[in-house]
Amino acid sequence: MTSRIADEPRRKLEMKRLQKLRTSIAERGLDALLISQTENRRYLSGFAGSSGWLFISEKDAILATDFRYVEQAKEESPEFVIFQTKRELHDWLPGLISDFAWHKLGFEADSVSYDGHHKLSEALKTAQLRLELVPAVGLVEHLRSIKEPEELALITRAVELGDAVFQQAKTIIRPGMTEKEAAWEIEKLLRQQGSEGVAFEIIVASGPNAALPHARPTERRMRSGEPVVIDMGARISGYCSDLTRTLFLDKASKTMRKIYDIVLKAQTAAIQGVKSAMDARQADQMARTVIEQAGYGENFGHGLGHGVGLAVHELPTVGPASSGSLADGMVFTVEPGIYLPGQGGIRIEDVVVLENGKARVLTRAEKGLSL
Ligand code: ZN
Ligand code: ZN
Repeated sequence: MTSRIADEPRRKLEMKRLQKLRTSIAERGLDALLISQTENRRYLSGFAGSSGWLFISEKDAILATDFRYVEQAKEESPEFVIFQTKRELHDWLPGLISDFAWHKLGFEADSVSYDGHHKLSEALKTAQLRLELVPAVGLVEHLRSIKEPEELALITRAVELGDAVFQQAKTIIRPGMTEKEAAWEIEKLLRQQGSEGVAFEIIVASGPNAALPHARPTERRMRSGEPVVIDMGARISGYCSDLTRTLFLDKASKTMRKIYDIVLKAQTAAIQGVKSAMDARQADQMARTVIEQAGYGENFGHGLGHGVGLAVHELPTVGPASSGSLADGMVFTVEPGIYLPGQGGIRIEDVVVLENGKARVLTRAEKGLSL
């Protein structure tokens, strides 16, 4: 089975995405949009290189990249005009756009540096181009938050791979192994079974380290009876999965068992209660209420979840401060946790998709305290 969306259907998808983007470019009163964010570039053009820029206007679609990527760009993005860049953005952009009658160029203000913007403004002045740079944020990210069936299929495959590797890792991980050794075993399994590297640095956090939501694997040897938080993801054709389970290498303490049950209850409440059109904040609150009522509100210090796609963290943001609402087609994690400093922590994370108004859980990895 091929892991990619075949070329033709993929190009059709990209054309549809461009069409939608052009509508929002026009709505903002822009003549064109400069795309610099890596996943946005790939989403719109299919170009998977690590460096490049897109210019999208009503009629034009240009992919600018340096000589290392020109051939790849021609192959991956046949619908785009390929422009070979030399040196920095401010060196070549005035020359490229001088042929167009653009007055307002949107740019992704969250991925252009202050220095980059300053140099570009100066270069436009020097070239005597009357082009206004207009900050624009989230246009492509917003489109990306609703997954097409083809994208969902790739995410599902990444989730399945993560699930399978997790089950295998459970047979390998033993007391006495270091966190780093366990993380490497998981990474090997992911790569051997077709993952494009890892979606993010694998977390294996044992004992007191499990109290740190974003712990890095250390040389610490895992011991019987303490919690081990494993957070891992696969990547298939650019699409990520994200899975967390907390295991005990032997019998869990009473406190940890109690906390595990609360976290699981919170997760279940959110998965069962979440609906399309609901404020993302409300979804977070459903899980948070369960944890707060159990007396651990202070120990759940992060949001409930995040969108997953070409990036492992993308829209929608599902947290107490989220302003957006949820919609069918969104794929996101549901990952409540309770962290007790110095003692340990529990997090359980699944990926869900909103379909027909409610959540369908993609993750199948077993839950439970023991190996
Ligand atoms: Zn995760
Ligand atoms: Zn996550």
